[in-house]
Order: sequence, then C-alpha cells, then structure tokens
Amino acid sequence: MKLISAIFRRTDWYVTSPFGMRRHPVTGAQAMHYGTDYGTNVQKWPLYAIEDGYVHVASKSAGAGNYVWVRYPRINKSLFLCHMDSIVVKQGQAVKEGTLLGYTGTTGQSTGVHLHLGMTDIGKDNYQDPHAYEYDGGAGLPDEKLAGFKIEQIRKGSKGDSVVLWQQILLREGYSLGSWGADGDFGGMTDSATRLYQRSKGLVVDGIVGKASWISAGYVLGEYAGEGDEEAPEEESPKGILYGIDVSGWQKDSVCDTAEYDFAIVKATEGTTFTSSAYKRQMDGAIKRGKLLGVYHFASGLSAIAEAAYFVQAFAPYRGMAIPVLDYEAGATSKGREWVRQFMNEFKRITGVMPWLYTYYSVAQSQNLKGLCDELGAGFWLAQYWLPTERRGYDLLGKDPAMPCDCWQYTSEGYITGYPDRLDCNVFYGSVEDWKSYY
Ligand SMILES: [Zn+2]
Repeated sequence: MKLISAIFRRTDWYVTSPFGMRRHPVTGAQAMHYGTDYGTNVQKWPLYAIEDGYVHVASKSAGAGNYVWVRYPRINKSLFLCHMDSIVVKQGQAVKEGTLLGYTGTTGQSTGVHLHLGMTDIGKDNYQDPHAYEYDGGAGLPDEKLAGFKIEQIRKGSKGDSVVLWQQILLREGYSLGSWGADGDFGGMTDSATRLYQRSKGLVVDGIVGKASWISAGYVLGEYAGEGDEEAPEEESPKGILYGIDVSGWQKDSVCDTAEYDFAIVKATEGTTFTSSAYKRQMDGAIKRGKLLGVYHFASGLSAIAEAAYFVQAFAPYRGMAIPVLDYEAGATSKGREWVRQFMNEFKRITGVMPWLYTYYSVAQSQNLKGLCDELGAGFWLAQYWLPTERRGYDLLGKDPAMPCDCWQYTSEGYITGYPDRLDCNVFYGSVEDWKSYY
C-alpha cells in the first residue's frame, strides 16, 4: 500500500507535486524536490504513525514549518512530515500504528494546506520518493477499503473488513492463523489466536474483540482512526530533551512526590529573610524519587550581596545535587543587569557554582540578559508563554522560544499527570549529564 494512505488513514488525498526536479512554488527557482506533496482538499487532516517507531525530532523551521521526523526501525525508514498545523507528539516519544502525530497545515514555505512527505533510510540523508515505496505493513486493509470503514465488535462467526483488520493485527503480533491467513472469516484459528493475544495483553480472555481489545491494538471501536491510544507507552526522554516543573509554596508540599517530571526546580528563598515553608519537603520528595533538581531564589531587589548570601545558606545543603537559580522578575527588574551580575558573581564567589538566571522574555530582551549569561557562563532559563493557555501533559505544540535558552518555561497552566492543579511546565534542552554539569 501507499505510505500516505497509512499516514492519513484515508485515501481521498491527491499528489500536488511529485518527487524530483521542479520549479519551487514559492521561490520560483528550479530545484530538487526531496519529497512528495499531498493535497488534502484544503482541510487539516490528522496524521498518524504507521507502525512501531519513535519521534526522532519534533520542531519547526522557516522552510518546513512545524515538522516531525518519525523513525520506523522495522522498515529502516525515517519519515519527514512538514508544514504541519500542529504537532501533538513530543520528541523521543514512542509511537505505534494509529498514534496521532498532529495535523496537516500550511506552516513554513507553503502555498496551501498539504503534507510534504520526505523519506530516507534511518540516519542517512539519501532522500527517496515515498510515493514509489511499496509499504508492506501498517493499517493493513487495502487502500480502497480505508475510506469510511467502521470498526466493529467481532467474535467467532463474524465476517468482514473488521475481521480482516483484526487478523492482520494478530499476524503482525506473531500469532499463526494457519494457511487461512487474513481471510475475513473469524473461525477457530482466529478465536484461539485472539485468546492468546488477550492473555498476553492482560485483557479479559473471552475471544470477543470489543473496545478493550481494539484499543490495545491502537484502534477505536466504531471508527477507523485510532485516536483512543493516548496511553501509548512513552519512552524515557531521549538525550537532548528533559521536561520538568518549577514549584513554590503555592503548590502542595507533596507536589514533587506525585507529579510526573524529569526535573523539579523548587523555590527556596526571597529577599534576605524569607524561606519557603515548603522548600525542604518539596526537595525531599524529588530526592526520594531520584529526580533532577534545581533551587531558586526570588529576587527582591535589596542588596545583591546580601540576597546572594541569604540564598547561599539555603542552597548549601544541596550543593552538588541541584542547580541554583536567580529568579529575576517583578519589582526587582528595575535594578537592571548590573544588579544581576553582582548577585551571580557573589553567589559564584562563595559557592564555586554559577547560578542560572530566570526571567521573562521582555526583561531579557530589554536588558540583554541572554548576553549577560553568555558573558558569565551562566545557564539561561526563559519564561515565555505563547502557546494556547491551558496545556495537557508536556507539550510544546511544535513551537520554540523566541530567543535561545537552556531551559524554557513555556506555560504556567500545564496539567500534569499526578497533580490536580496547574503547574509551570518547562523543557530543558540537554541530557541528564548536561543538567548535572551545572551543579
Ligand atoms: Zn514538498
């Protein structure tokens, strides 16, 4: 089957520009087109993973717009999906057949809603024509059956397309259907393979392929598109990206015990007299779970030397276990970058550790604080919220911050598994080792 039918899970697409030499639709220049463009009737269609694989890159660029590279090891192909309206997976996430990746759009250099699909071997830049590639797996049904197909509850005695699809899933999972193969007839072989499958997945072993069995395979009863698999197992964060929260006395003392995160940055102190009553308890919660840590001081704009000294006392027990951070925002920002420099240098002088600087985009911009961090060799943690307000899970929607940073706080309204209220969510652009290098 065509890869594109497996990606769209429908067949009413059309090729708008083939792979090969062509006149570029935006620049007008004669150039190689390293992919095939597919029209989607001007609509934003969902894009799905075709089989087991992982999101190698989820990002955006001026040319490609919002894009993902999804790697499929079984077939040794890496697929490049460009101009997406939005991306709903994160870099490093494991995907399987039917995992929603995002939607087609017209971001980047594009003249209308379409999907540019590129294809290489994994880890190579040998672009091949995805439209000429004969895909041997995926959604399983022949192209002409994909459109409008509804998945049914089936059992011994059932016949039809849902049975064909189910049998193909069983075959792909390694169960034998004898010489019958995927014949669309739910007989004794299919029944026993189904029961073995159900046992292996921890489902009720009844031979009835209903809601739970379909969902376990990445499909939804009554629909063809498999959007029901939000519980798709996720890989550990890959090298290069970590997700985390920052917390203070506004959150529960137990937030670090229960929420899902790679790192937590905990408020310690403010000014020269205030220490958060939740500080130690929140730190302990993260330490018990072996999580990465940061500790921050909220600047009041008093004496930079005195504030640094006060923060040092609270930080000292965690030296070598957490990144110290100066939180420079609100009233303190009227003090200007020399105040920041003084605080940072004083903290480094006493502890030997250069803290990170946290601030908002507008302040960073007007006081050139990214430049100051570069000068001091300090990590830069940027707060910039330009995504739709409420976020579920760690989710960048393919956006990047407007200025380079080591860590980006991209929302203050993230809802994370394991915590009932909104949280600040962050992404760190580095590995565990990179994080610890700031200790
Ligand atoms: Zn294209």
